Amino acid sequence: MDLPFEPYRIKVVEKIQRVSREERVKHLRAAGYNLFKIPAEAIYVDLLTDSGTGAMSDLQWAALMSGDEAYACSKSFAEFESTIKDIYGYKHVIPTHQGRAAEGMLFTVTLKPGDVVPNNIHFDTTRANVEHIGAIALDCIGAEGLDPATEGPFKGNMSLDNLRAAFDKYGTPRIPFVMLTITNNSGGGQPVSMANMKAVSAFCREVGVPLILDACRFAENAWFIQQREEGYADKEIKDICREMFALAQGCTMSAKKDGLVNIGGFLCLDDDAWAQDVTNLLILREGFPTYGGLAGRDLAAIAQGLREVLDPDYLAYRIGQVARLGRRLDELGVPYLRPTGGHAVYLDARKALPHIPQSQFPAQVFTAALYLEGGVRGVEIGSLMFEHKDPDTGEMVSPAMELVRLAIPRRVYTHTQLDYVAESCARVMEIGERLRGLKITWEPPALRHFTASLEPVGGGKMIAKA
Ligand SMILES: *Cc1c(COP(=O)(O)O)cnc(C)c1O
Repeated sequence: MDLPFEPYRIKVVEKIQRVSREERVKHLRAAGYNLFKIPAEAIYVDLLTDSGTGAMSDLQWAALMSGDEAYACSKSFAEFESTIKDIYGYKHVIPTHQGRAAEGMLFTVTLKPGDVVPNNIHFDTTRANVEHIGAIALDCIGAEGLDPATEGPFKGNMSLDNLRAAFDKYGTPRIPFVMLTITNNSGGGQPVSMANMKAVSAFCREVGVPLILDACRFAENAWFIQQREEGYADKEIKDICREMFALAQGCTMSAKKDGLVNIGGFLCLDDDAWAQDVTNLLILREGFPTYGGLAGRDLAAIAQGLREVLDPDYLAYRIGQVARLGRRLDELGVPYLRPTGGHAVYLDARKALPHIPQSQFPAQVFTAALYLEGGVRGVEIGSLMFEHKDPDTGEMVSPAMELVRLAIPRRVYTHTQLDYVAESCARVMEIGERLRGLKITWEPPALRHFTASLEPVGGGKMIAKA
């Protein structure tokens, strides 16, 4: 039995339905070839994101019932705070309604225009929140992390050379802190090794700036360390987490990922002054410091979720399910970023559709075709999401990779449904060269991938006649 074994049985089910191809064509056109704008009920397998889309456990649902809704100092906050302190070990725990609120508030109190934030790769909301302040979001991933073809155990690692170069170029006053995203979502959900975290942490101490972890998938990262890094095979997940967090001075967290809930987040900090400034802003924007935009029951469900996510059986199943999808894609000849990540498989659209230039959004084309062929929704992580202006030259730069992320919601889909996803990807590969590029017909000023409208280049249908 080599299946990633589900460490649960199903207690409640939700009906999903398949929508006909004709209807999918209509939906896709009406949505301007933007999958964010397709009604969810017209999707068969929804792999848009693993954020807030997981299934809660019986104990989490029970926690909702027992949540304490006192405005101040609720019992649920006490449980939330003590659970987080126990795992993360930071001095201050500040609840927020989701991860980007934690980012936004931290950046508002610590950054000013012209400042620079190095990260392995900034996640899209992180980049947008840094840039919103007029600061520069600088990615310092190593070359290996940008090459979809190489196999490597820790392709999320930050390049110390790139980090050092950032400090040489901009100097310490302009860099108030360094961030490290574990696992590295925008670079393929690849983990960061403990050795790399130690090296980055030591460098930060040397130059005297704090290290802040973007910790959304901390447990998945810890599992990879346990499985892949020498000296960790016999360590418990929780101890590995504590060791990772001890190397930094705080973290931002979206509980919609490894918190195993549908909404929530928090910010952890050791620094008293930063925590005080953030708390002042929290009261203005999110709510009183013991609920921060969440209901008491949400805090209770997060506390329970954080305890469950450390279960090694859960993590083996979770990451094993993603790896299993990768093996199915291998069998069917669908190219993806290697190796599979913790929460997602990232199809390599440049390789899959080499005839479509980056300016015509090959990853978005693949995403649209995957919906058309299978009713499956993935998300583009390529030029539509990440094309940006170079801060020095002012020229538009395309990202290094054109990826279609198939993010797997936690505890939601079965192996059979993911087999179907792999087969739908193979169908898109078969259409291959008949697929036309896309062009933008409307875009907003920031985070355009969420709402932009597109159409096939030259008008007409996306799939040319055979
Ligand atoms: C999801 C995510 C965020 C933002 O969290 P939200 O809860 O969606 O606001 C930040 N960083 C990373 C790496 C993420 O995956």
